[in-house]
Amino acid sequence: MKIPLSRPDITEADIEEVVAVLRSTQLSLGPKMEEFEARVSTYIGAPYGIAVNSGTSGLHLCIRALGIGPGDEVLVPSFTFVAAANAIRYEGAVPVFVDIELRTLNLDPTRLEEAITSRTRAIVVVHTFGVPADMQSILQIARKHHLRVIEDACEALGAEYQGTRVGAFGDLAVFAFYPNKQITTGEGGMIVTQDPRLAADIRAMRNQGRYVSDAWEQHSVLGWNYRLSEINCALGCAQMRRIDEILASRRNVAESYNRSLSTLRGVKVPVLSYEDRSTSWFVYVIQLDPTFARDERDRLMQHLLHQGIGCGRYFAPIHAQPAYSGVSVLHSLPNTDFVSQRTIALPFFNRLADESVFEVTEALEEGLSLL
Ligand SMILES: *Cc1c(COP(=O)(O)O)cnc(C)c1O
Repeated sequence: MKIPLSRPDITEADIEEVVAVLRSTQLSLGPKMEEFEARVSTYIGAPYGIAVNSGTSGLHLCIRALGIGPGDEVLVPSFTFVAAANAIRYEGAVPVFVDIELRTLNLDPTRLEEAITSRTRAIVVVHTFGVPADMQSILQIARKHHLRVIEDACEALGAEYQGTRVGAFGDLAVFAFYPNKQITTGEGGMIVTQDPRLAADIRAMRNQGRYVSDAWEQHSVLGWNYRLSEINCALGCAQMRRIDEILASRRNVAESYNRSLSTLRGVKVPVLSYEDRSTSWFVYVIQLDPTFARDERDRLMQHLLHQGIGCGRYFAPIHAQPAYSGVSVLHSLPNTDFVSQRTIALPFFNRLADESVFEVTEALEEGLSLL
């Protein structure tokens, strides 16, 4: 790829911090993990942070920690990454898909209540593409129906809703650090919470079911090895030190794209600023006008790929995945179906140069003219 879809931003300082761990004697469950947990949880404004080896592991432990299991239902969007729903299925619970709103591409609060039954236990709220969901309405509905709220903030480190960073709203929240996220640890994730009991349970479950107070080789509950090594955590610490700079450069790239693409007909660019929330830019996703058919979108993507320009359909909805053929779709998802047929994620990363933005724009323009 001449211009890849995503590219990690690793500095010499990042590398040195990782190498320092390799020269030390502690490669797991050490000071870098504690520092990384403190850095992320403090940044979010939640007292507890528990590092795990992926965002998916984090979501799994959230479902488990809330005691959600067979027979329980959890509300979740279908227009998101498959991990959000998989975590529910790992524990034998049923994901119930709820449609999104067109403005933010997040869960539509007006569609939540129709999906609530006597078996509903929780809502997994995803802050899609780094745009905060409508937390005020969602929390109100959750309180009314005694539902737990898990924020899937894997795409939204640093995004704010009404002046508060996402991750500080739910009973539990999860961040992820795969290389295409705002910050990376190679692989990795973090659960944050305000609840000391949930934090202690999750800390135990990540480490083979051992509580901090447990004796050596005492396993109080069923656990997993979802630990994040010191090597990964060191990279996370180094990246967190630059978080403001990283988010600012991503915002600049998004602004640059919006300016550059403003002349293209048939392309809807993402919203740069909302009144009550601020985006932490994860990916840059355009939507083609409704006049374009799905196969035209796919042909346009082929054109970009032939020009060496990385792109992807974000998202192919979960309910349409073969792995979900056995999971019933109980509620109509018109916005999910509509949006997922016309989205294209364009190359997007911290150091994407303006010249590349122009190159992508030209390739898009040419591709559109060929449709
Ligand atoms: C990235 C992501 C995750 C977690 O991904 P991992 O690769 O397991 O770290 C979960 N949910 C969403 C919405 C994501 O974008």
